[in-house]
Amino acid sequence: MNTAANANYPGNSQLILALSKGRIFEETLPLLEAAGITVFENPETSRKLILPTNDPQVSVIIVRASDVPTYVQHGAADFGVAGKDVLIEHGGEGLYQPIDLGIAKCRMSVAVRAGFDYANAVRQGARLRVATKYVQIAREHFAAKGVHVDLIKLYGSMELAPLVGLSDVIVDLVSTGSTLRANNLVEIEHIAEISSRLVVNQAALKLKRERLQPILEAFERASKL
Ligand code: ATP
Ligand code: MG
Repeated sequence: MNTAANANYPGNSQLILALSKGRIFEETLPLLEAAGITVFENPETSRKLILPTNDPQVSVIIVRASDVPTYVQHGAADFGVAGKDVLIEHGGEGLYQPIDLGIAKCRMSVAVRAGFDYANAVRQGARLRVATKYVQIAREHFAAKGVHVDLIKLYGSMELAPLVGLSDVIVDLVSTGSTLRANNLVEIEHIAEISSRLVVNQAALKLKRERLQPILEAFERASKL
């Protein structure tokens, strides 16, 4: 063990886990319990952004889903849980991704307004307007198909875009498909299966290995149950 490096690492004995509110927080709670960690507040009702746990050395910070990789990459959090969608968009730089936790499962899909002849538009080599929050994923998907696209970056409610003529196509996450159906949209292409992964800061993995390893092992065991 490199004790000099350990001694110099700020807050060495503390572990910070970055989570987002909603399904990732809820679906990570049982994994934390398996590691003997109980979170003492609920982010849905508390305004606190740093949540203590029963382990005085472990705290949970609550950040936007798409900000989790950034906090972990910069070492502001030692580890976190993020969707594969978010990790692809982020690029994964500085992150070790040891475990697919199999939580927050959904799929990344292409959808259009019912009645829009996507196959024909593609066949004719038309330039498609694609509205999405996931510009990297969309760019790669259409480039691989040889389809020319104009990407329109949105931050939410992608389903609206084709309904008001902002785009021909959307690229979005789908789980049950009920939001698409409610808005008269149809899923026409499946891009990728999505689930959430554990991400660990690369320096923390080396310098805090003794503290992190048992938690990572408990997460891995519990996520396979
Ligand atoms: P924000 O609300 O901060 O803009 P977000 O809307 O992407 O972010 P959530 O909706 O909480 O955040 O989704 C967080 C993660 O959960 C996503 O990155 C994705 O991996 C996963 N997810 C999103 N939608 C679904 C869904 N319908 N079913 C299952 N998992 C989903
Ligand atoms: Mg959301």
